Amino acid sequence: MGKRQTSLIVQLRSGHISLNLHLHRIHKSDTPHCPHCSLQGRRIPESVKHFILECPAYNVERFWLRGKVGRDANSLKALLAKEKMMKALVAYVDRTKRLRNIFGDAPPN
Ligand SMILES: [Zn+2]
Repeated sequence: MGKRQTSLIVQLRSGHISLNLHLHRIHKSDTPHCPHCSLQGRRIPESVKHFILECPAYNVERFWLRGKVGRDANSLKALLAKEKMMKALVAYVDRTKRLRNIFGDAPPN
């Protein structure tokens, strides 16, 4: 994996990542809640788990991820366990565009 991918995986593992739950802890966001779910009136912390496994705003991207890795798409542990899974996970994150401000767009292969 490249430096960009590795850095993203490290952040997903640690939870020290530019999602509202973490940003709120370090006083960089007014809210710990998911911006998409907040628009639907649901106050759900934007954790790594919510972002990767649960948020309905990314159902299309998650469907794609399932096509790539099958059932392992339902488990953060599985997604972070093997290099092949991690690559698919990074591609998922790129597709959501949620962390684009931090990581930029995916580099062309
Ligand atoms: Zn959400």
